[in-house]
Amino acid sequence: MKDGTTLLANVRLADGSRADIRMAGGAIEEVGPGLDPAGAERLDGGGLLALPGMIDGHVHLDKTLTGLPWMPHPAGPDRASRIATERGLRAGLPPPAERASNLVRQAVALGATAFRSHADIGPDIGVRHVEALLEVKAAFADAADLQIVAFPQYGVLAAPGSYELMDEALAMGADLVGGIDPIGQDGDLDGQLDLLFRLAAKHDKGIDIHIHDPGEAGLREIGALAERTSAAGLEGCVTVSHGFCLGACPDDVFERLAAAMAAAGLPLATHGGGASPLPPVKKLRERGVEVFVGNDDVRDTWGPYGNGDLLIRAMLLSWRSGFRTDGDLAIAFDCAAAAPRRVFGHDDRGIAAGAPADLFTVHAETLAEAVAQHPPRGLVFKAGRLVARDGSYLG
Ligand SMILES: [Zn+2]
Repeated sequence: MKDGTTLLANVRLADGSRADIRMAGGAIEEVGPGLDPAGAERLDGGGLLALPGMIDGHVHLDKTLTGLPWMPHPAGPDRASRIATERGLRAGLPPPAERASNLVRQAVALGATAFRSHADIGPDIGVRHVEALLEVKAAFADAADLQIVAFPQYGVLAAPGSYELMDEALAMGADLVGGIDPIGQDGDLDGQLDLLFRLAAKHDKGIDIHIHDPGEAGLREIGALAERTSAAGLEGCVTVSHGFCLGACPDDVFERLAAAMAAAGLPLATHGGGASPLPPVKKLRERGVEVFVGNDDVRDTWGPYGNGDLLIRAMLLSWRSGFRTDGDLAIAFDCAAAAPRRVFGHDDRGIAAGAPADLFTVHAETLAEAVAQHPPRGLVFKAGRLVARDGSYLG
């Protein structure tokens, strides 16, 4: 047997054709019907639909309660209550690396092959959560890619010491500078942005900032981000997470901001809005703004929902967006697969010769069915290595 060569035989591709997929050296070598299995380990795909591995572009692995016995969720509806609840419960929870690992195993078994996770930073926890996620990143290096965002959950100026902790986290290996509502959390738009862009320049890293602020405040924040991103030459390296205000603003304001975001290469990461306004996914994409999805909170002290399944997340995005056609459902899947790859600068060709062998199979006949019905998964491959089967992580 040729070392590390796998032939995944008998799968259906998104275009409806039947094919085999040969993988070697972490990449897809060949895709087509009736490939020669000689020299390869042959796995039968059972006629399932094969799709490119999905990316959770915005998740909080360090917050999850996945794998723990069910806990009632006491957090109130506003963000301050959720932050206070989390602070109160955190000390009694198993370590963040253990909880994050539970979620990574579960999400990989559902077809995720990469994550961008925020890791809380703050005076009460220091950089411990970044350390934990760096551990998780190393432990799962063969199963999933992990980007870590140094996330100042309590603000930067509002929580003295956070800037220095973010600086430390980035020096330790965090991949991106996080941020949160410069106006709502810190009461100082330029003050927080000055610090985020200073850290980005110092460490040569990108920025991913939570913008929950509604209305005028959120719109001003996104406008300022677009301006600063272009001025700093960071086009493509800065992400707006949530940006709920884009889903509830006058048309002329939306058009102005969408144009600024497109010009600055400023993408939007969304979890689908929840109870908040949802930015218009198709309109943003049509104006040249990349939109990608993430699960955000997956069963944690902030909320009881979610299991890490990105097909469910794509379905929720579709549902909230009013998508009904197969073409629209394909857009939602693009937001969970190719769009984050374009944003992260990764190969986005999907299941094609030469592309990374990150893929999964699902009990569906078409891509639209996979999104709308999120059926059980079959096999999951990361860099050509079988990492999960029938919903179970293989380790
Ligand atoms: Zn978040």
